[in-house]
Amino acid sequence: MGLVVQKYGGSSVADAEGIKRVAKRIVEAKKNGHQVVVVVSAMGDTTDELIDLAEQVSPMPSGREFDMLLTAGERISMALLAMAIKNLGHSAQSFTGSQAGVITDSVHNKARIIDVTPGRIRTALDEGNIAIVAGFQGVSQDKKDITTLGRGGSDTTAVALAAALDAEVCEIYTDVDGVFTADPRVVKKARKIDWIAFEDMLELAASGSKVLLHRCVEYARRYDIPIHVRSSFSGHEGTWVSSERLVHQTQQQGEKPVEQAIISGVAHDTSEAKVTVVGVPDKPGEAAAIFRTISDAEINIDMIVQNVSAAATGLTDISFTLPKAEGRKAIDALEKNRAGIGFDSLRYDDQIGKISLVGAGMKTNPGVTADFFKALADAGVNIELISTSEIRISVVTRADDVNEAVRAVHTAFGLDSDSDEAVVYGGTGR
Ligand code: ADP
Ligand code: ASP
Ligand code: MG
Repeated sequence: MGLVVQKYGGSSVADAEGIKRVAKRIVEAKKNGHQVVVVVSAMGDTTDELIDLAEQVSPMPSGREFDMLLTAGERISMALLAMAIKNLGHSAQSFTGSQAGVITDSVHNKARIIDVTPGRIRTALDEGNIAIVAGFQGVSQDKKDITTLGRGGSDTTAVALAAALDAEVCEIYTDVDGVFTADPRVVKKARKIDWIAFEDMLELAASGSKVLLHRCVEYARRYDIPIHVRSSFSGHEGTWVSSERLVHQTQQQGEKPVEQAIISGVAHDTSEAKVTVVGVPDKPGEAAAIFRTISDAEINIDMIVQNVSAAATGLTDISFTLPKAEGRKAIDALEKNRAGIGFDSLRYDDQIGKISLVGAGMKTNPGVTADFFKALADAGVNIELISTSEIRISVVTRADDVNEAVRAVHTAFGLDSDSDEAVVYGGTGR
């Protein structure tokens, strides 16, 4: 029996009952002969509540202090979980990200893991303990400051530890039975996916399926760590995410390996906003100046569109989407550089949503795009921006249209299940 890393999300440890339930589950894995490393998130919506609190104190808190505050959430849950396990008669030790050897760069609020040195975790395991690690946090290599990995970052902690400890699997326990063909909170007839390749999962995650964080899937692909996404509230087999489907990842023994689906699923994201730079001179270097300004402010953008140049004025508009949380920073940076770039005005719209259709089969099925647009048209949904990759097509619409659009596309591509199998066990969906 090898080493397993289990990650429990906030909804799984939302209250004392949840912590005790999870503790039992962890002890079961230990009793089955595994060495167990547990990565835990903050209880319920603690992180959101801490963010709200910070905003009441300061509209623009310093990154360093913000991270110091947010990591407190995971400290609470890790200690309580270790206590609950001890109460069941098993030994457990909790560790902060820093103690667990999670070394990051020094970009506060969205640090990247650059190394994992889990010496203390190894020792704890060798001494027979269950090791509990606070997710979502690390320590910066140069300044030794406490950092956080960005929202949902505990997923990344789990996979990074699994890679560093050479775990046989990284189990991600959450409030749904696995990865579905759409968010079960929106599509009741979403189907659970038994196995999905890293590439498809990467696109789903990048497009907003927050059941797994994009960076975590990237990490798992790089180190070839199989992920098993499942519910901490049920005993059901979940979704395997790996490079290839292995026999033990099929539900029934002896079942033929299933081919990769043409369409993996529909993702949506309402966490982005749209910035439009109005009246940009239609000449070389303008887009470069705009996006240099944005990247210098360390803002990641998603979709970009430049409208057809108005011949009469020689001006164009350039729109792009970015996380709402970075909207203020982007507007400030562009305003500061207005003279250098040369534009008329800026528009900011945070009432948008993105819908993406993801599937490896898209490469070879040219009809997919047309069917996607037709489904949106039939649902009366207007499209504002479009972007595509080899295995994804995304559109931006009004935020109010998103849920309806997701359901329409899900149905149009034959993804609806016959039964209402998509159970949401907990969480507030915040
Ligand atoms: P945790 O607290 O365990 O980290 P998250 O809220 O981050 O949980 O992720 C689980 C949630 O992801 C689910 O409750 C569900 O609403 C959402 N979700 C979005 N897309 C999907 C999908 N395709 N499959 C499953 N869940 C999804
Ligand atoms: N607690 C952090 C968050 O809510 C990290 C995580 O849950 O993965 O984003
Ligand atoms: Mg999560």
